[in-house]
Amino acid sequence: MRTHVGIIGAGPAGLVLAHLLQRAGIESVVLESQTRPYIEERVRAGVLEQGTVDLLNELGLGERMMRQGLMHYGVELRFGGRGHRIDFADLTGGKGVMIYAQHEVIKDLVAARLAAGGEILFEAKDVSVGGFEGERPVIRFTQNGEPMELHCDFIAGCDGFHGVCRGAIPDGVLKAYEREYPFGWLGILAEAPPASHELIYANHERGFALMSMRSPKISRLYLQCEPDEDLNKWPDARIWEEMQKRFATMDGFSLTEGPVIQKGVTGMRSFVVEPMQFGRLFLAGDSAHIVPPTGAKGLNLAVADVRVLASGLKEFYASGKRDLLNKYSEICLRRVWKVQRFSWWMTSLLHKFGADSAFDRRRQLAELDYVTSSRAAMTTLAENYVGLPLE
Ligand SMILES: Cc1cc2nc3c(=O)[nH]c(=O)nc-3n(C[C@H](O)[C@H](O)[C@H](O)COP(=O)(O)OP(=O)(O)OC[C@H]3O[C@@H](n4cnc5c(N)ncnc54)[C@H](O)[C@@H]3O)c2cc1C
Repeated sequence: MRTHVGIIGAGPAGLVLAHLLQRAGIESVVLESQTRPYIEERVRAGVLEQGTVDLLNELGLGERMMRQGLMHYGVELRFGGRGHRIDFADLTGGKGVMIYAQHEVIKDLVAARLAAGGEILFEAKDVSVGGFEGERPVIRFTQNGEPMELHCDFIAGCDGFHGVCRGAIPDGVLKAYEREYPFGWLGILAEAPPASHELIYANHERGFALMSMRSPKISRLYLQCEPDEDLNKWPDARIWEEMQKRFATMDGFSLTEGPVIQKGVTGMRSFVVEPMQFGRLFLAGDSAHIVPPTGAKGLNLAVADVRVLASGLKEFYASGKRDLLNKYSEICLRRVWKVQRFSWWMTSLLHKFGADSAFDRRRQLAELDYVTSSRAAMTTLAENYVGLPLE
């Protein structure tokens, strides 16, 4: 088999790249190790930056998102028993974020890709990459037990944090920067109408909590917990009791409770490798970096990377020039590090750190007070949350 660009991974990075290339008349084949139903049901992120929303619409992929998603123009920061709204529209010239689940985005991207005759090879197993140091990259894999080879001009490693592409780059080329956090998030999906129409980020002395939603009938809620928290210790009643404590306000706020339909624990880490390219292999999205979910950035950062990669590939196929491709990593990393900073900052501002001293707690509350009372500080939060511009 032969194509222009071999894309490994049908997550947001791989699928958006395939669509961007298709629009530019560049052929690609997407290889995915899982089945289609698996990737279409995997519950993950749910906040799309304004730029991601605009891109999906521009590509003609946003019809269902615009019908079913919830556009939000603010969030609430809650501490000391009071809520404080950050008004994105006012602070950023009308921008907002879309609440639309990642697996719904995946469904839309897969359906549109297949309808347009594009290829996605599901259940591609034993994937390995080679030849990318020179001019003849090749992807080897098996499908239905048959060994296969895909020859291509470039390989896009969009295979997430646990994929094979990052590890295929020779030792000594990449440098990793990492931070692990001493907590995780216990997340639930519940059949309960959200108690507020916008997200609530709560800083509480018992730990962080986040109220989000998937639809007007389904709430998505998170509690700060131990990184290796045992879910068996968290029957639904205990989860609701703890949530109610962390979201409580002076004026008697109460969450709407309902059946819990999904439960899980997510670890928190910041991770970046530099550079994000080697020869004809390019890493994009989680294969190159991970952010803690507090800033709601993981999916959006994956999309931003592939926009840069698609521009570079477009330039190459139009003119044979590699100027943009050569700068891929440099261009992406400037934004990646700004987004890392924001995600780390939101995490530090809102969570309880095990070894916090009374001094640190007072400092955190003072910072929250500042962030919710200074227009300059609120603007900083708002412009990062709705998404920094692409260069
Ligand atoms: C449990 C969980 C909860 C999350 N919650 C949030 C959140 O609330 N907010 C937020 O902003 N972000 C969240 N994230 C992060 C966000 O979902 C990711 O940043 C985003 O999915 C990155 O997209 P990607 O395309 O780079 O990688 P992925 O979505 O991971 O896609 C990679 C794809 O490659 C496939 N693959 C892997 N290895 C191979 C291989 N060897 N061969 C072929 N295919 C392969 C995988 O099956 C997958 O489909 C969460 C992540 C997880 C895991």
